[in-house]
Amino acid sequence: MDCIFCKIVSGEIPSKKAYEDEFCYAFYDVNPKAPIHFLVVPREHIASCDAVTAQNSAAVAHIFEVIPQIVRQIGVTDGYRVISNCGRAAGQTVFHLHFHVLAGTELPW
Ligand code: 5GP
Ligand code: ZN
Repeated sequence: MDCIFCKIVSGEIPSKKAYEDEFCYAFYDVNPKAPIHFLVVPREHIASCDAVTAQNSAAVAHIFEVIPQIVRQIGVTDGYRVISNCGRAAGQTVFHLHFHVLAGTELPW
């Protein structure tokens, strides 16, 4: 499968790591939309939110457990936003499930 985020998870494509464990990998977005902008992805290939099922949702729950740990470790104290674009019309460009975490400024809605 030709998936850029699977290649980032495996280390085939270099990235700036923010966090990693057995189930997920977090790295800074190459084109940041805020002063702090990283992505958290499951190591397992899941195409998008739309492909989350009872069989793979533990990886998603785990990501939501580690996001607060990562933001605390980075030193974010004044809020952050978690976004997942699901599908082309919603702006998804990489079809490996990922959660954007944005912080470090006032974020307009
Ligand atoms: P999406 O548009 O699918 O919601 O988000 C994909 C994100 O991945 C974009 O914000 C884009 O900047 C980021 N991205 C795409 N390719 C790479 C890459 O090779 N390295 C990193 N660090 N980020 C990437
Ligand atoms: Zn993938």
